[in-house]
Amino acid sequence: MSDFFKGGLARNYVAGDWGDGDEGARISVEDPGLETPVGDCALAGEASLAKALEGARKSFERGDLADMAPAARGRLMQRVAQEIRAIADEGAELLCRESGKTLSAAGEEFEEAAQYFEYYGGVADKIEGKSIPLGPDYADYTVYEPFGVSAQIVPWNFPVSIAARSLAPSMAAGNSTIIKSPELDPMALAMLGVALERAEVPKGAVSILNGIGGDLGARLVASSEIDQIVFTGSVPTGQAILRAAADTVTPSLMELGGKSAAVVFEDANLDTFISSLQSGIFYNAGQVCSAMARVLVHRSIYDEAVARAAEMANGLSIGHGLDNPDHTPVASALQLDRVEELTSSARQDGARIAAGGARLDRTGHFMAPTILADVAPNSRVAQEEIFGPVTCFTPFDTEAEAIAIANGTEFGLVAGIFTRDLARSHRVARKLRAGQVFVNEWFAGGVPTPFGGVGKSGFGREKGLEALFNYVRTKNIAISLKE
Ligand code: NAD
Repeated sequence: MSDFFKGGLARNYVAGDWGDGDEGARISVEDPGLETPVGDCALAGEASLAKALEGARKSFERGDLADMAPAARGRLMQRVAQEIRAIADEGAELLCRESGKTLSAAGEEFEEAAQYFEYYGGVADKIEGKSIPLGPDYADYTVYEPFGVSAQIVPWNFPVSIAARSLAPSMAAGNSTIIKSPELDPMALAMLGVALERAEVPKGAVSILNGIGGDLGARLVASSEIDQIVFTGSVPTGQAILRAAADTVTPSLMELGGKSAAVVFEDANLDTFISSLQSGIFYNAGQVCSAMARVLVHRSIYDEAVARAAEMANGLSIGHGLDNPDHTPVASALQLDRVEELTSSARQDGARIAAGGARLDRTGHFMAPTILADVAPNSRVAQEEIFGPVTCFTPFDTEAEAIAIANGTEFGLVAGIFTRDLARSHRVARKLRAGQVFVNEWFAGGVPTPFGGVGKSGFGREKGLEALFNYVRTKNIAISLKE
């Protein structure tokens, strides 16, 4: 497959060429389900970064994408989508092995990546400005112009689809883009370079660098050669990046963590809720920023809801991602330590373990699917992001109390409501502090629906038409028509 994989090494896609990294540096990538190596990935350093930055700037200045006829840019993006589908089977297997997720979830990532290119390719020729009336003596209009070079930092939980989520609108707007892939699972994302190469995306317009966050990532975001930062990841890293961005006054988009709550009212359909709970907290072993990390249940159905949740969690099939089980390992030994440590704090804080509660005694970084009950809303486990297959149940008595608990963390990514009462769903949705509210189906929505946070979950929006306007800036042009 092109020059992506050579001599047992996944390489960097740097300004249209495949590079071996700097001075032979490489990182070993582990299969978290087997605790065995998947392969090595070339590590980009200063020289690769310099080449990517120069290539991105030159491509932008040549107008490779920005000055391309917008409809042609859209067609180019449709080709990228086709080429992503062409590598999807091979890429999904690699992603499954390096991330631990199921093969079907890995396939869904490639499919979603293709859909981002189709969606934003379809609007590349519809980024329309306005005409502003200033009277007969003036013609005034706005244009949306690309920033220039967009630096994009990607996390390990959905490396392929999140990279595409930001790259596609960035390209549609005409920016050059440099992606820094996550060090835990960089290989399938590096493979996106194959699709870009086959679609004949102009050289330099996109680079994908595999590098260590605190080193290459920090250098990229601090560079005076970039014009925009798009960051998806944890709050502390986002804060560090914002500090760097303050020095260069670089516009930034922040997609950070979450501690999202579902509110389950007494009239909810419990079958619907339990099926949403399964995907909400156990999909991708709970390593989802918008996971159903807290569940607030009306006291009248609380015991039944906890019992059914525990039964569902205990009944999940567990195994290696290639076998498509219900439940897979977390991404690394370190991640498992973190998840287990935070979960164990629940016991000391008076919570009851209704299912799971600890790691599983088997090869691979497996945390048991865990349901914590009677969790105090202010306890550590209810306030901090666990980023694993662990959710916290808490009873409530009134609608106002449920809203207060749901809004009672420093995050605000998504929220959910389970009820048959239409009026209540609208009323509560307005009051929930979150960028997106799901009613009767967790994760309802998709590529066209805007997504992003409130509070420490970040700012700016990805997905949907709205996201496109995070990748452009407005210029107003006022023309005097007076003689
Ligand atoms: P992380 O913050 O540790 O790392 C994210 C990325 O930042 C990685 O590529 C890493 O290498 C890089 N990085 C680390 N330090 C850096 C620095 N100083 N400068 C520049 N880059 C640096 O996060 P993670 O553990 O990879 O991902 C999990 C977190 O991401 C969770 O908090 C999760 O909620 C969040 N997340 C948010 C969204 C969203 O859309 N809101 C989506 C997925 C994940």
